[in-house]
Amino acid sequence: MPKILGLEGTAWNLSAAVVDEKDVIAETTATYMPTTGGIHPREAAQHHASHIAKVVKETLKICGKDIDAVAFSQGPGLGPCLRTVATAARALALSMEVPLIGVNHCIAHIEVGRWKTKACDPVTLYVSGANSQVLAYRAGRYRVFGETLDIGIGNALDKFARFAGLPHPGGPKVEELAKKATRYTPLPYTVKGMDFSFSGLTTAAQEALKSSTLQDVCHSFQETAFAMLVEVTERAVAHTGKNEVLLAGGVGANVRLREMLALMCEDRGIEFYAPEKRFMGDNGAMIAYLGLLMYKSGYRTAIEDSKANPNFRPDDAEVMWR
Ligand code: AMP
Ligand code: MG
Repeated sequence: MPKILGLEGTAWNLSAAVVDEKDVIAETTATYMPTTGGIHPREAAQHHASHIAKVVKETLKICGKDIDAVAFSQGPGLGPCLRTVATAARALALSMEVPLIGVNHCIAHIEVGRWKTKACDPVTLYVSGANSQVLAYRAGRYRVFGETLDIGIGNALDKFARFAGLPHPGGPKVEELAKKATRYTPLPYTVKGMDFSFSGLTTAAQEALKSSTLQDVCHSFQETAFAMLVEVTERAVAHTGKNEVLLAGGVGANVRLREMLALMCEDRGIEFYAPEKRFMGDNGAMIAYLGLLMYKSGYRTAIEDSKANPNFRPDDAEVMWR
């Protein structure tokens, strides 16, 4: 049974994992925490560079060195972070004399969700710091049915929270404060065709703090942004005729978002799936698992093709394992 080492380090989380077809055998993580402000790309990359040897060593100590391939997040993500992890992946693959496999980070979120839940052919809502997309499989690729036109929902929440004086990451703090709200303040609801946008909403929410309480604005921000995401997800379901929805990405930890998606799915009589939290945000296991699927279908990345790709779109990747 093949065993794959996967390296994730597109942004804040550096993680190495080894998986086989059955389960995650080992996973080690080192998290970059900005002292002030949000994620600083160069500082995050320096964090990854200084922790990667230890993280990989710890992982291989648990599961042994008989690895069949090294998979890594080739993109999308922060350039300096991607380059650091790609360099480590190349060095490992060459020294262990095993193939290298560059994987698309967004697709890894989908595949780990399909692996760890009963979802088979879902419409996926992938909501993370930098990314917000509605995806589904059709004719050999994961197609993007809708996506953010500016910033990701996680970054929008983090940016608003930072403005309000809350520490990074802001998403969980906004969720806590929203529970204590007493009224909804109207904020811009921006859905254009199948796409959405969050930067105007973020600015308006910051403005709203002048006349509403922080709790009320947190609640209104969530209700508005999540309704936009659920609307587009529902329309993708209607368009594709699929009967499952999968939630992926760090913002997927939000209970209110889950509630709204579950309600929409219940109303339509379709299934809603969300993997456990460790497979929701960025993690090494999802990279190793997608690496395993690609490895089994014969995919290999030549060293000269292993350049980091900060704008790697999921619909640019050919899906040979489905
Ligand atoms: P990822 O890039 O997928 O690892 O996700 C990171 C993003 O998830 C950050 O922007 C966090 O603020 C956000 N996040 C984490 N937990 C929550 C939560 N409970 N509610 C909303 N956003 C969250
Ligand atoms: Mg992610």
